[in-house]
Amino acid sequence: MPYLTWMADVLRDAGLRVVEVDGWQSRGNRRGMSDVRGVLLHHTGGSGAGNFPALNYLIQGELPAKPPPVANLGLARDGTWYTIGAGLASHAGRGKWPGIPTDNGNPHLIGVEAQSTGKGDWTPEQLESYPRGVAALLRHLGLPADRAIAHKEWRPGDKIDPAGWPGDINGFRDTVRAYLEDDMPLSDQDIYRIWDFKAHELNNPAAVHSAAVWLVGANMGAWQAEKQLVGLRTAVEKLAEAVGSAQGVNPDDLKKAISDAIAEAAPPALAAPGNGEG
Ligand SMILES: [Zn+2]
Repeated sequence: MPYLTWMADVLRDAGLRVVEVDGWQSRGNRRGMSDVRGVLLHHTGGSGAGNFPALNYLIQGELPAKPPPVANLGLARDGTWYTIGAGLASHAGRGKWPGIPTDNGNPHLIGVEAQSTGKGDWTPEQLESYPRGVAALLRHLGLPADRAIAHKEWRPGDKIDPAGWPGDINGFRDTVRAYLEDDMPLSDQDIYRIWDFKAHELNNPAAVHSAAVWLVGANMGAWQAEKQLVGLRTAVEKLAEAVGSAQGVNPDDLKKAISDAIAEAAPPALAAPGNGEG
């Protein structure tokens, strides 16, 4: 009865933002999962306002009909994934699909609840993040795209979720399949997007900052600082030329004076290595 504690890392490695809900690694309805054979796709319904108003319900459930958790994973409107429960969750209900035990989906299907009213109000971030995350989960499990299953396919006639996806659920699966079959190197746009997500995590106090995230942030900071420094140096030199020739002063003397002043103002360790006493 495994607990799917790998989910956060797998989603992060796909370039996605992840919030780990406290205690998610051991949260399950009395037990862990059985062998996982697919991902069941839901929408939450409910409010059109807020980033993830359904989150508390998904964590706490509603006894006795819905013992917590009500999903293994959540997807907020801003595209952030929430790890809610690594063990058994109450989401599938009765239904059937090839390869999954009939009326017994919960132990075999990772349940994802995405915040949406059910009127097709998916955000651009969700349209990007939902299939990308599902593909990452299936890739980790070694399962094909047709194991991304809509709740309305699991229980047709009764369920409608996830509703209003562009191209409907086959469109969703096509996107998942493209990710799974894509062995080509990442495009510049993909790399930029991953960096952008990683940089965003630096400002997210709920995220666990891996060393890699810190390193990316530090590199980007250093790169920015270097660019600014080069710009500043050029500006100072141009200013020295202009002021020097206008005032009849040697521009080189002026540049040296400025550079001496900067060295004096800089911290001793930077201005004069090895002379840190004082
Ligand atoms: Zn559902």
